[in-house]
Amino acid sequence: MGNHSETAGDSAAPLPADNPRNITAYNFHLAADRLGLDAEMRTLLTTPFRELRVEVPVRLDDGSLKVFLGYRIQHNGVRGPAKGGIRYHPMVTVDEVRALAEAMTWKTAIVNIPFGGAKGGVVCDPRTMSQRELERLTRRFTSRIQVILGPYRDIPAPDMNTNAQVMTWIFDEYSSHHGYTPACVTGKPVELGGSLGREAATGNGVVFLVREMMQELGRPLQGASVVLQGFGNVGSHAARAFSREGAKLIGIGDYYGGIFSHKGINTEDLFKHRDATGRIQGFPGTEPISNEDLLELPCDILVPAALECVIHKGNAERIQAGLIAEAANLPTTPEADEILHRKGIMVLPDVLANAGGVTVSYFEWTQNLQQHFWEEDKVNAEMERVLVKAFRNVVDRARLEKISFRTAAYTIAVERVARAEKLRGT
Ligand code: NAD
Repeated sequence: MGNHSETAGDSAAPLPADNPRNITAYNFHLAADRLGLDAEMRTLLTTPFRELRVEVPVRLDDGSLKVFLGYRIQHNGVRGPAKGGIRYHPMVTVDEVRALAEAMTWKTAIVNIPFGGAKGGVVCDPRTMSQRELERLTRRFTSRIQVILGPYRDIPAPDMNTNAQVMTWIFDEYSSHHGYTPACVTGKPVELGGSLGREAATGNGVVFLVREMMQELGRPLQGASVVLQGFGNVGSHAARAFSREGAKLIGIGDYYGGIFSHKGINTEDLFKHRDATGRIQGFPGTEPISNEDLLELPCDILVPAALECVIHKGNAERIQAGLIAEAANLPTTPEADEILHRKGIMVLPDVLANAGGVTVSYFEWTQNLQQHFWEEDKVNAEMERVLVKAFRNVVDRARLEKISFRTAAYTIAVERVARAEKLRGT
């Protein structure tokens, strides 16, 4: 179990550079090799179904006009409507959106929910924009991509720098074109048809799966030291859930840098400090630490919950975690995977680790289609049921075939999507 050699040693191709697209391509081909997929099926499964690139002109508060660039990419929809978040970030590229869309196809297949994969992104820096500017940007972006969206076509959700308010603007704008359609987007506020439990679902799901994994490895989660990169939607909810489990958060970082304490960081006090000061930095009882050093702290569990490619061949040798739980999408490059394996570091792969979010998005979608709402206990219990099943499938496959959890997860996913393609007669 946990043999990572498959992720690194079984392909004759040279290991790719740090590009999110190469991460999905590399892991896909490892799975395709195991499944003996032919060249046609490989082409079918790696070529995005549809890519839309739009210009998004927005009148800024100072009266000037700025044209933003946006993408919505549907990677595959053979198992159901395309599903995936929308990211606002200055570093958004078409390759990044393609890779994230493809990762969604595998993720929805691993948890076996009836969706395909998609992703969207707008090249912008939300930290420098007012709420009014963000609303205008979101509405204009939505009006440009709404032709390919819809409850049975493609359903966006939050990702980096987008949240329930942004989803509300998408819902409202889409509905102004198509009539009241709450199922056109997930991650909405509960008052507008959002699901109870959705906001915390990704972070809670990560910690739930870490608990399963620690049990599997015979290691206690209570008292385990945790380092967390990213304190946004996913990271902050994961921090709360780790605290509930009695784990000890020793390092937390975000865009502005990290904080560190051997004694452990009290999560609730940290939230109060952040609410009062706007930052996690300067939290009493902690020392500042750079984002680079944060990732290299000795710890039981390292949780990247921010950007992709943060664990790469330049730092993997210095990572000192027992387990890496990939809350972020595509945080580990193939070269780093090989190094981690050599060092005996286990990896809970992103396509499984952070799938709690899309699972509860699926519940939100079904609730919207039926206009019938679930209690939070039911949402959480159903999410855990779906995640446990996916986790067991991945662990059993990894054990049986003596492959890494990542290769096992990709193999299960690619097998399901390839089978659906065949059944539909593509
Ligand atoms: P977010 O915008 O709410 O938070 C992002 C966090 O990352 C912030 O704390 C930010 O300060 C930090 N960050 C940004 N740049 C950084 C840098 N250079 N160094 C260190 N920290 C940095 O985003 P989110 O929704 O929490 O998403 C985080 C990750 O989780 C992304 O990879 C996203 O694709 C993935 N994800 C999100 C969801 C979801 O439901 N939101 C679901 C699955 C996966």
